[in-house]
Amino acid sequence: MDNCIFCKIARGEIPSKKVYEDADIFAFHDINPQAPVHFMMIPKRHIPTLADATMDDAGLLGRMLALSGRLAREQGLPEGYRTIINTGRIGRQEVMHLHLHVLGGPEPLGRMMPKPGA
Ligand code: AMP
Ligand code: ZN
Repeated sequence: MDNCIFCKIARGEIPSKKVYEDADIFAFHDINPQAPVHFMMIPKRHIPTLADATMDDAGLLGRMLALSGRLAREQGLPEGYRTIINTGRIGRQEVMHLHLHVLGGPEPLGRMMPKPGA
């Protein structure tokens, strides 16, 4: 996708604080972190939302999840972390390129969900 910001980050056309890269996956720190450690894992291939994924993407998505623990440990999260994938309007997804948030820090995170409307 020509005008997708995360495609541009994956291609190195927009700078990012890279965490990891292989042939299919790119990971980088969130520009507006919501926790002491907050990075994102994306497929290099443009998939707009999780709802657009098909069974053909199962291996790729599985690899992203399976890799998250290693990357989290490398980023200083040995005791766990939270993964979030916001999907579509209802999920309040802002960047329409599928991404897996990985968040954590030295202390337990806050509640999983704020009250609706908050
Ligand atoms: P979401 O609301 O799940 O779509 O999350 C989009 C995330 O992308 C937000 O947490 C933003 O802070 C983050 N973000 C937007 N632009 C950039 C960028 N250029 N580099 C790193 N993170 C970004
Ligand atoms: Zn994209």
